[in-house]
Amino acid sequence: MKNRIFVSVLFVLVIISCGKGKVKVKDPILDTNKVNVVDTADTNITHTSGTQFNADSAYAFISKQMSFGPRIPNSTGHKNCGDYLISTFKKYTDKVIVQSFNATAYTGTVLKGRNIIARFDEKNPNRIVLFAHWDTRPFADRTEATKSQPVPGADDGGSGVGILLEIARQLKASPAKIGVDIILFDCEDYGDAAGRPESYCLGSQYWAKNPPIPAYGPKYGILLDMVGARNASFLKEGFSRQYAANIVDKVWNTAIGSGYGAYFINADGEPVTDDHYFVNTLAKIPTIDIINKSSSGFGNHWHTPADNMDIIDKSVLKAVGQTLMNLIYTEQ
Ligand SMILES: [Zn+2]
Repeated sequence: MKNRIFVSVLFVLVIISCGKGKVKVKDPILDTNKVNVVDTADTNITHTSGTQFNADSAYAFISKQMSFGPRIPNSTGHKNCGDYLISTFKKYTDKVIVQSFNATAYTGTVLKGRNIIARFDEKNPNRIVLFAHWDTRPFADRTEATKSQPVPGADDGGSGVGILLEIARQLKASPAKIGVDIILFDCEDYGDAAGRPESYCLGSQYWAKNPPIPAYGPKYGILLDMVGARNASFLKEGFSRQYAANIVDKVWNTAIGSGYGAYFINADGEPVTDDHYFVNTLAKIPTIDIINKSSSGFGNHWHTPADNMDIIDKSVLKAVGQTLMNLIYTEQ
């Protein structure tokens, strides 16, 4: 009995869905939505208007990156994921720049890197820039037992990129008043844990020393690194306060005012040598880092094989993504 009812209901639903499908083709907005759903391989995504950040979509973008395996420079997964990021950006903007480079890692290995840049409203002189790194660490060297394994990189790399891909999708759907650049740095995490901090962040250092856009002068920059893990907390990181204190206050005030004070903590954190350090010191663009680091460190999953989709929390993605959206769409 239940089955018969179920089959009948299913039949009606199939007819309704077919009907909706035809309407979608005629409606450009719904049609765009349909493309997005296919793109992110998540049929449960509900499209929301202009300034609403969609955490389901960001999550799907992280999951997609993970499907390539670890994104270790010189690996097939790295190349395939880079190609995917470029082609995805090209759906959202005509202006995508790929900066290819070779960088020598501390191990002596020459890494083939690509910094991937997506520009929105490129002629607008009033602009900001958002950063993340898209490579993942080759060694889970947080513990001796796992150091020969790679880091899967759902959070460390994947989360920042996932949020920025979703913002790119939103910027195409609802252009902002300001110009926005999104820059995905490569070769961030191939550094020497026992050595110089400069052994990390090879992509951002190359970009700062070899500017691909002449006379580049955005008002400020925001770096996202490890912005998707459960129980994340974002303190006001030290170099961010040193080089861009007003931007730290602006972003934290926006986050707290948007109801995300549980994640954006109004307290000072230690300095972390991350990509923003080189953006500040070499490219001289005041840039902050939103990074999950509390007094007990970067989280238990950091640089371990546990950095996988299990630790990604959509409410954290929402807190970070919506804060950025609220900032972007109110900047004049
Ligand atoms: Zn890392």
